[in-house]
Amino acid sequence: MTENLLWDEFPALYRKLLPTWFGQSYEPEALATCRDCAMCRPNPGRHKIATYQPHLKCCTFYPDLPNYLVGALLSDTDPATAEGQKRVRNLIQQRSGVSPYGVNAPLLRELLYAHAGGDAFGNSETLLCPYFHRENHNCSIWRYRNAVCSTFFCKYNDGRAGEAFWQSVKEYLGFVQGLLSEVALERLNFPSNALPANPMKRLVGRNTRLSAADLDGRVDDATWYKLWGDYAGREDAFFIACYREISQLTPDDLATLGGFEERRHAAKVQAAKRAVDYPQLPPVLHRNPSVRIHEEREQHIVVEGFNGLTEMPILLWRFIQTCSGEETEQTIAAFETKHGLEIEEDLIINMVQNRFLLAEEELAG
Ligand code: SF4
Ligand code: SF4
Repeated sequence: MTENLLWDEFPALYRKLLPTWFGQSYEPEALATCRDCAMCRPNPGRHKIATYQPHLKCCTFYPDLPNYLVGALLSDTDPATAEGQKRVRNLIQQRSGVSPYGVNAPLLRELLYAHAGGDAFGNSETLLCPYFHRENHNCSIWRYRNAVCSTFFCKYNDGRAGEAFWQSVKEYLGFVQGLLSEVALERLNFPSNALPANPMKRLVGRNTRLSAADLDGRVDDATWYKLWGDYAGREDAFFIACYREISQLTPDDLATLGGFEERRHAAKVQAAKRAVDYPQLPPVLHRNPSVRIHEEREQHIVVEGFNGLTEMPILLWRFIQTCSGEETEQTIAAFETKHGLEIEEDLIINMVQNRFLLAEEELAG
């Protein structure tokens, strides 16, 4: 059987660039069934739960594409990338959100996303990604998708431990994207005097103000030529040059360039991976008071948990209800004696990862 290696999830250029521990194996997220989107199924039942539209899915998001990934996409000679190349070229022509750092979300789109309500993700046409192919229901730049897109899953094999792991990878790659987009500029001796702050490092919020140009999504010629200097009109060539520069870097270069921050992010990813690979049973367990029963069937119930709706035997639900802060081992032993059965530790760990059961500190938090 082919082993799934972590760095195969990401754009190919990272394989020569990321630390070798990114070559470790991982279990693909089998619950996030993207071809038959797990979030687009109807949910008959007692409570309303979150669903997405099939022609939008989880792509109601405008990704930041750093300069070197734009260049990698534009350098690809496979006809399968033609659609993505056409789209990114259109965005470059439109200028809004485009800078030597990459093809980024225009400020207006970032603000809309930041202020979107609970049901907007997965359901708002306005938030749809410019690279999403509506007819095919898929991504036109899949091989070059960014840190957010390559680490997002709507459901996780290992529940919250899986989510924490992918979140840490997202933060690591997000840091790398911000760093390398600047390294590319440095290596190309791009004049820094006309450059704004790196959009991949900005935070938008309540106090963010939009100019008339931001609101209208336009960039006039004077601003554009000042920003791009000699590369104005040759933006494609510039992005490809960024890709070539970054392709030459090694993991040692990345470690030197990233310094303490790279090591900090790396340590977080490795700790999160250990939590997935070697999960521990908390010494004390509480039932999660916010879990709701969605439907009752013979000998089974359907409950809404971390990964959405989950069917479980009534007996397991009864065990969960007995967990009220006593020591885990005692709770398990008492239940096993009362019902004349044995509960596997993996099953209880699964209940913890899916937040049907909470550790002491989670209940307090
Ligand atoms: S990750 Fe996105 S596309 Fe894949 S199953 Fe989940 S919501 Fe659907
Ligand atoms: S880049 Fe691709 S995966 Fe990411 S939001 Fe857009 S269409 Fe979806």
